[in-house]
Amino acid sequence: MSSNALDLHRRSIVVDTHCDTLKCLTQEFTRTKGSMWKDRSSVGMGVRSELGHVDIPRLRDGGVDCQVFAVSSARDRTPPHALRTALDMIDVFHGECERNSDAIRPVTCHDDIVEAVGEGKVAAMLSIEGADVIEGRLSMLRVFHRLGVRMVGLVHSLRNLLADGVSDARTGGGLSELGVKVVEELDRLGVIVDVSHINDAGFWDVNDISRNPVIASHSNSRAICGHPRNMTDDMIVALADGGGVMGMNFAPSFVHPTAPTVETLVNHVDHIVDLVDSDHVGLGSDFDGIRSTPVGLEDVTKMPGITEELLRRGYGEDDVKKILGGNHLRLIKRVVG
Ligand SMILES: [Zn+2]
Repeated sequence: MSSNALDLHRRSIVVDTHCDTLKCLTQEFTRTKGSMWKDRSSVGMGVRSELGHVDIPRLRDGGVDCQVFAVSSARDRTPPHALRTALDMIDVFHGECERNSDAIRPVTCHDDIVEAVGEGKVAAMLSIEGADVIEGRLSMLRVFHRLGVRMVGLVHSLRNLLADGVSDARTGGGLSELGVKVVEELDRLGVIVDVSHINDAGFWDVNDISRNPVIASHSNSRAICGHPRNMTDDMIVALADGGGVMGMNFAPSFVHPTAPTVETLVNHVDHIVDLVDSDHVGLGSDFDGIRSTPVGLEDVTKMPGITEELLRRGYGEDDVKKILGGNHLRLIKRVVG
C-alpha cells in the first residue's frame, strides 16, 4: 500500500452503504438461518474477530467512517417473525452502540455523521433490506423511522406485498398500490429509497414515483458483470439523472464471473464514471452478507486497496473522495437532511 493512497484514504470520509453484520450479532437470526452467518452475538461488535468481515476494530483499520447496517427480513418472512426479528436486530444495533460508545455512534442525519467523524468515531446508520418487516403497515414504517432507520429497500430477493425482487422477476411486476404508498411515505419522512434487490420493473416504478434521488446501496453494473442484481446502463443513467448514487457490491458473482478482485471491482466504477460521471458511484460492500470475497478485499480492513487502485488508474483526489463517500454523503444530506 502506497503511503499516498493510505493518506488520502484516511483524509476522506469513507461511507459503506451496506453490510449484514447485524445478522451475525443477532442470535434470533443466526439460530434460524444456519451456517452462512457464524453467530458472533456473544463476541459483539467491539472485539476484533477472525469471523466474518466487519467489527469496530476492523472498521477503524479499514478507515470506514460511516457504516450503514442493514436490518434484514431475509427469508424469515412469515408474520410475526419478520417484524420481531427486525426489532431484535435494531435492539442489537443500539445495544452495541451503547456498549461501544467510545468508538461508534448511531447517526440519523448528515450532520451527525460529520460530528461522529470529528469525534473520531464510526458513524452507524440503520437501513432496512426488505420492507416485509413492516407487515404491510405504514405505521410500522413510521416506527422504524423513529428507531433510526434512514434507508429502506422495498424487497429482498422475493415478491412481497410491495414489489417483486430480482428472484421473482418472471412476471415483470412493478410496485403494488401499497408499494407506491410506501415510496410516497418514505419521501415524506425523508428516508432514502433503496432499489438494490428490486426487479427491473419495480426499479422503473420507483424511478417514476419517488420525488427524491434514490440509492442502489449494494449493486454493480450489469454491462460489466451480467448478474440480475446489477443495474443496466439505462437504469444507471436514470438513477444518475435523478441525483441517485450506487454503492459497489463486493459479492464475487456481482463483480466478475471468474476473476473477482479489487481491480475487476474498480472496472465497475470506471464504467459508471464513463457512462454518467463521478457523482453517482460509491461503496456498498455487502460484507458479512457474502460467503466469499474478491481477492484483495478479504474484509473491511482492505478498503484502502480501492483507494490505491483508483489512484493507480489516474483518478484525481476530488473524484476519489466522492467515490469513497462524498457522493453518499451528498445523497444523505439531500434526502435525510
Ligand atoms: Zn442484499
